[in-house]
Amino acid sequence: MSADTRILLESLGVTGGHTGGTLKVHSPNTGELIGEVVETPVDQAKAHIDTAHEAFLKWRLIPAPKRGELVRLFGEELRAHKDALGKLVSIEAGKVTSEGLGEVQEMIDICDFAVGLSRQLYGLTIATERAEHRMMETWHPLGVVGIISAFNFPVAVWAWNACLALVCGDAIVWKPSEKTPLTALATHALFDRAVAAYKAAGHAMPEGLSALIIGGKEVGEALVEHEKVPLVSATGSTAMGRAVGPKLAARFARALLELGGNNAAIIAPSADLDLALRGVAFAAMGTAGQRCTTLRRLFVHESLYDTFVPRLKQAYASVKVGHPLEEGTLIGPLIDAHAFALFERALDEARSVGGKVTGGARVDVNGKDSYYVRPAIVEMDAHAGPVLRETFAPILYIMKYGNIEDAIAMQNAVGAGLSSSIFTNDIREAELFVSAAGSDCGIANVNIGPSGAEIGGAFGGEKETGGGRESGSDSWKAYMRRATNTINYGRSLPLAQGVTFDV
Ligand code: NAD
Repeated sequence: MSADTRILLESLGVTGGHTGGTLKVHSPNTGELIGEVVETPVDQAKAHIDTAHEAFLKWRLIPAPKRGELVRLFGEELRAHKDALGKLVSIEAGKVTSEGLGEVQEMIDICDFAVGLSRQLYGLTIATERAEHRMMETWHPLGVVGIISAFNFPVAVWAWNACLALVCGDAIVWKPSEKTPLTALATHALFDRAVAAYKAAGHAMPEGLSALIIGGKEVGEALVEHEKVPLVSATGSTAMGRAVGPKLAARFARALLELGGNNAAIIAPSADLDLALRGVAFAAMGTAGQRCTTLRRLFVHESLYDTFVPRLKQAYASVKVGHPLEEGTLIGPLIDAHAFALFERALDEARSVGGKVTGGARVDVNGKDSYYVRPAIVEMDAHAGPVLRETFAPILYIMKYGNIEDAIAMQNAVGAGLSSSIFTNDIREAELFVSAAGSDCGIANVNIGPSGAEIGGAFGGEKETGGGRESGSDSWKAYMRRATNTINYGRSLPLAQGVTFDV
């Protein structure tokens, strides 16, 4: 481990677990070994879940605004350590500086959101047909929430789930990606500091309310299979969701699935091309194409194809691929050799079905153990072959279209349904795109790319993206159980539907 990484971990409060273990962690930036993390045996993972359940039984009784205070204190820790945690994200996940910091900012934002939410967990009062009765709905804490996260948002996704779950009165157990356990250790150490500050301020707090369990899918399965975990929020590939979803359904647990995307944008004849160019370039190349919301398919109207595509190619040629912490770098590395193999395979397949590839070469930034590539544009005649699946790398497939209905139909003709956008100044097209007959995705944007998310909105997608919603709007409801309560404050007992039942 480099001295730099060790100092960062120490500054974030990590006192153990990052050395002497069996899980080898390599920085994608250099290929260097940066940690040998101690894995959690499955039995111990189960014990953590049992403890979290006991903690839940107490935590659920603490008033929600008081629970919010813990999340507020966690937000303070994040603010104080934003630079260090952001840098660690860059080292372990290969994100450029602004994206590493941006990820921590998302954590801070969800803390703020959750603190406000802790005073707004409200239900409805509903008109009842019976005299001297009141009918209402109440929302109650659910239990232990299992959080399984992916490598590409190693800490923000946990925070999206954890902060909401905590104010909702739940306990949490986190299984981070086996590719990014160091950022998880650091995040949890910051959370422990918030817990210490909470207790020091005199608040009651059960032990083991939040646990971190580290390892591969067997450790994740402990969460999926444990009867005391009523909700698993799992972020990752559609293949993972296919494995996890049925197991949760079999024991009637809730699944909040945030899976793969195959996101598209449409460039319509009236589009502001300067704005579209920036939107497309960032959405397709940012994070080296390793965002669930990365733009992967572009439908360009035939009337402007020959104007727009050459400009886009120029933008592609000008971006700096390099070490993520170096100034001016816009594109960092792929996560590992496997990701690089999938990138090459998709480009080969595209060529074999007639795709014209620009870019896509491997770039030697730090030797053979790191995998940097020039982002690729692939011009396709048909919406077919590798275009139809998510390859988690910077490949943008471009196709021409003639009329808007065809473009929308193509954009919807894939398994995933996460994010989408249209660039247009034609109000009819814009409204059609966001209407019932438009994009079938969980996110549908106008004049802004499909990538990224803002805390206030519900985040997630349809079809093979899994249907889950996290973060803002009323996503909190997934972390609570709803009860309908009818209260009779009269002296008679009118039965529903006017039934007579005299005894
Ligand atoms: P992955 O599916 O390989 O792993 C994700 C997590 O699931 C890891 O923690 C892994 O250990 C765990 N896991 C895998 N199989 C499991 C099983 N059978 N039981 C329990 N746990 C299991 O994904 P990845 O390579 O880390 O991340 C990239 C993928 O995640 C892409 O497909 C991307 O689109 C998707 N993603 C989606 C969102 C979203 O919000 N929709 C966000 C980020 C990433």
